[in-house]
Amino acid sequence: MEKDEILISWLSEFDYCPRRFWLKAIEKQEGDNQYTAEGSMAHQHVHGERVEKRREQIKVTGLHVRSEKYNLYGICDCVEFQVDQDGVKIPFLGENCKVCPVEYKHGRARNEREYNVQLAAQAICLEEMYGAAIPRGYIYYTSVRQRHEVIIDDSLREYTVKVINDLTNFISEGRPAIAVYKKRCHRCSIYDICSPKNVMVSKYMKGLWKDV
Ligand code: SF4
Repeated sequence: MEKDEILISWLSEFDYCPRRFWLKAIEKQEGDNQYTAEGSMAHQHVHGERVEKRREQIKVTGLHVRSEKYNLYGICDCVEFQVDQDGVKIPFLGENCKVCPVEYKHGRARNEREYNVQLAAQAICLEEMYGAAIPRGYIYYTSVRQRHEVIIDDSLREYTVKVINDLTNFISEGRPAIAVYKKRCHRCSIYDICSPKNVMVSKYMKGLWKDV
């Protein structure tokens, strides 16, 4: 990873909650709960760099990807290359292929915006690296062994670029985000470190004293 590059996984953290991104990526706070433990297990399936070939389908795990245009860097859980004469030349495979990223997650199959952003950012990198057109990718939910298709259309691409720009500005401003308590906070691995309810109560109390 080059200095100042944006990690693709940060986009997902930031879109989930800017404060969570700040605490984990900038302050290096660590937390574990049931959800992160399951998440680590989901990634056991795709750890390491490996190439698996089955007839016309080649699966590559742990592929490093980068976009100079958006200053992005990341490692894809899995990229599927389907050998196809209408695809693009993939130099390290020596084949023409269609390209499709697959991100591994845990839990039940669901449509999470931050996962879609992560997948779209991977597609943007792969398109820039290989000149491919990538209209779709998949989130694979390991606990239920289900693939959820994500269409990488113009609106998801535009939103992903917005998240990249917002995150870039957020990092350069260097100001921690204030906790905003919401329902999903209970699933957050750094709930105790963040203390969103206490932060909001203290903000409220400060507001009261200001008016006295
Ligand atoms: S507890 Fe809530 S506000 Fe705090 S980092 Fe997690 S999601 Fe964000």
